[in-house]
Amino acid sequence: SRAHEPGEAWVLGRIPDQGLWPSNARFYRLLRSGMTLKGLLDSYFEDEELKAFLSILAEAYLGTRAEETPVASALPIFGYYIDGGYYPRGSSQALADLLAKAIEDHGGEVLTRYRVERVVIEGGAVRGVVANGEFFEAPIVVLNTNAMNLLDLVGEESLPSDYVWHIKSLKPSVTAFVVYLGVEMDLSGYPPLIKSLDDGVGIAISSNLDPSLAPEGHACVNVITVLPSEAYDAFGEHGTPEYTARKRAFSEELVEKASKLIPGLKERIVIMDAATPRTFERYTLNPHGAIYGLDQSAGAPERPYFKTPIKGLYLVGASTFPGGGIEAVVISGIIAANDISNWPSVRKPVTARNA
Ligand SMILES: Cc1cc2nc3c(=O)[nH]c(=O)nc-3n(C[C@H](O)[C@H](O)[C@H](O)COP(=O)(O)OP(=O)(O)OC[C@H]3O[C@@H](n4cnc5c(N)ncnc54)[C@H](O)[C@@H]3O)c2cc1C
Repeated sequence: SRAHEPGEAWVLGRIPDQGLWPSNARFYRLLRSGMTLKGLLDSYFEDEELKAFLSILAEAYLGTRAEETPVASALPIFGYYIDGGYYPRGSSQALADLLAKAIEDHGGEVLTRYRVERVVIEGGAVRGVVANGEFFEAPIVVLNTNAMNLLDLVGEESLPSDYVWHIKSLKPSVTAFVVYLGVEMDLSGYPPLIKSLDDGVGIAISSNLDPSLAPEGHACVNVITVLPSEAYDAFGEHGTPEYTARKRAFSEELVEKASKLIPGLKERIVIMDAATPRTFERYTLNPHGAIYGLDQSAGAPERPYFKTPIKGLYLVGASTFPGGGIEAVVISGIIAANDISNWPSVRKPVTARNA
């Protein structure tokens, strides 16, 4: 940890006000200040126990200690204290289905099981993508993949050397291990989210928020632990006996920890599945199974800008501003969509009806 970190007043006094609306200026300057959560708490409180308590939620979610956590990443987590958390009715899949429906309702088509292998560039502008060996022509391509995958998709030769250097400097965020349980138990008396600081696990009982997720008398329980990205290597190659054995052992360890908080849990399991860092990598193509895209700790390289040096090639998602998390990636999508809607080929001609 650092020996000395400047307090909030010190930082704010040195950042020029960018002419934002006065009541928001302080907030935006704080976000851009590079200050850590520890620095912020030190500037308000003296009691170490209180500061440790106020760091708990951010540390548990982000997997970084208060002295490594930028205020910009920690503040959204503080929203839990104020507004609580939200879970999409019908599970997270409902969000993806809604987005797919919006595309289809506007005449688009969603192709699943198509992996983009290459982005085709000509004369510094994007021409389309190759997916499953098929060429799809497009003047604008929005990549929602981890920015660390960009060089493989585009090719270093098409990009300026300082940009290539920046992309190569990026590091994956923390990863995780999750055990998914279906249990024959009435857990309605438990809170939907339990964080055990002693054992470093989080327990989400999603059926307490959305009873349609489990049959009567049953519950859905996810047990999660956040891990450093190096944990990716600890499981071995996917599909090997070594991998299966480690996955099983780690699952049992987490179930044991969860059973301390929910007595009888492990005896009432009806179905059990698990995801290792390699599982997250396989499904999302995030290197090392990164759950928040890029390293979000203080001092990590800046996230790439949403516009790449290639005309028509955009980056969105967790590896761009503002970062990882559902709400943040939606914001990144809106930023890109606003820019794209100003392209003359995209902008609707003004007619009497839409003027
Ligand atoms: C276990 C876990 C728990 C989490 N909990 C929370 C939480 O409680 N709250 C919260 O806000 N966030 C949470 N997150 C983080 C959140 O899920 C992510 O930050 C967010 O989903 C990232 O969105 P995205 O659109 O950037 O990427 P993704 O959701 O990963 O979507 C990218 C998609 O692009 C596809 N793709 C990538 N490359 C290619 C390619 N070359 N060709 C074709 N397709 C490609 C991937 O397969 C994937 O489907 C959690 C993440 C995990 C793993």
